Amino acid sequence: MIKKFDILVVGSGPAGSAAAFTAASAGLSVALIDKAAFPRDKLCGGGITGRCASALSQVFGQEITPDLFLTSQRVRLFSQGALLADVRDAPPIHMTMRRDFDAVLHAQAKAAGAQVFAPARIADLDPATGVARLGDGQILQGQLIVGADGANSIVARALYGKAQRYRDVAFGLEVELPRDTVDGDMVDIDIGAVAWGYGWVFPKRGSVTVGVCGTHVRNPDMRAVLDRYANQGPAMVRALSSAQCKGAFLPTGWRLGAPGEGRVLLVGDAAGLVDPLTGEGIGWAIRSGELAAQASIRALGAGAPGAAIRHYAAEIRYVQDEIRIAGRIARLAYTRALRPIFARTVRDNPKMTRNALRLLAGQFDYQDFGLAFAGRITRRMGRAVLAR
Ligand SMILES: Cc1cc2nc3c(=O)[nH]c(=O)nc-3n(C[C@H](O)[C@H](O)[C@H](O)COP(=O)(O)OP(=O)(O)OC[C@H]3O[C@@H](n4cnc5c(N)ncnc54)[C@H](O)[C@@H]3O)c2cc1C
Repeated sequence: MIKKFDILVVGSGPAGSAAAFTAASAGLSVALIDKAAFPRDKLCGGGITGRCASALSQVFGQEITPDLFLTSQRVRLFSQGALLADVRDAPPIHMTMRRDFDAVLHAQAKAAGAQVFAPARIADLDPATGVARLGDGQILQGQLIVGADGANSIVARALYGKAQRYRDVAFGLEVELPRDTVDGDMVDIDIGAVAWGYGWVFPKRGSVTVGVCGTHVRNPDMRAVLDRYANQGPAMVRALSSAQCKGAFLPTGWRLGAPGEGRVLLVGDAAGLVDPLTGEGIGWAIRSGELAAQASIRALGAGAPGAAIRHYAAEIRYVQDEIRIAGRIARLAYTRALRPIFARTVRDNPKMTRNALRLLAGQFDYQDFGLAFAGRITRRMGRAVLAR
């Protein structure tokens, strides 16, 4: 027997839960399918910026609460271990464990009325008919499918034959260490730790995440990069030796054309919506899930499911443009020949650095301020070169 739904949402990370929550709250019948039962682990720094916190509040009504997040306003920027800036009044960054965070969003989608199929693997998916066969033999059909199944999306593969574009995928490797490995609540970011990427230390409520992330093609031995970066004193080296490292891909902008086709809408990582400068993806995952659900509600309400992808493509363009501009700034910060000049410019221009942190935290959009910022930093970098 085929179970019929308005929408099949494949994947219940932030993107899928946002889509399912929004669509189910509007009265659509939603199947929410995930290969894992919740709570489940997800490799991630768990850094929630202001941009993401707004999406969380607007889409789910979920606020930043101390039971789920550790908030820090102190950010230290380094380049290969050398301190560039110590900003004590940075825009707040909230750090969370994805196991707990995703479980809260998943529960909200379920409470809104989405029918959960988890743990359930998709054995077979036909984008043309909207039919999905699960590993246990159940057959589901949706008028629309939302592909929210992350960086290795099988929905994207069913459409395009692949889930990522090799040249712009980033790879992150991280490790969860005991909380007392570091003192205090400051966030450390080292823009010289990785080729075309950065290293980070994110304190959380019960642990500290140490990670490195950069373009995959430029970092063939990421484990060596992590070992080098984590060589920050005996406590960290000792903790690292007995901890388990895990890695995962970040698709930074691979489908910046139409994110889907026919009855399929791709969201979050499945649509490549990861910021190429910062690796931030949770906020855009939530936003894109919401936008895909709204496009679906509108199209199904008009009896024209085929129009959903058109509505969604129009709405998601703003997010795609944000990612494009972030890519341009990433070229200034990460291109090998420019990186030392960029680092010096950060060190010598504290006001500009503060504004950059506000941009990264989502207090301005890249489209409002990012291009002007890129122009300003290019001029300052030019002056730094001439002054040598
Ligand atoms: C090392 C690392 C550090 C990061 N740090 C940050 C950070 O600090 N801040 C930030 O904003 N972003 C960060 N990101 C990016 C962020 O993790 C992602 O952008 C975000 O999780 C995307 O959400 P999503 O819902 O699209 O996908 P995911 O969160 O990956 O969720 C996909 C869901 O789909 C399910 N699924 C997968 N395949 C199937 C299938 N075949 N059938 C059914 N279900 C399936 C999975 O179980 C999962 O629940 C980081 C990423 C990495 C790798």
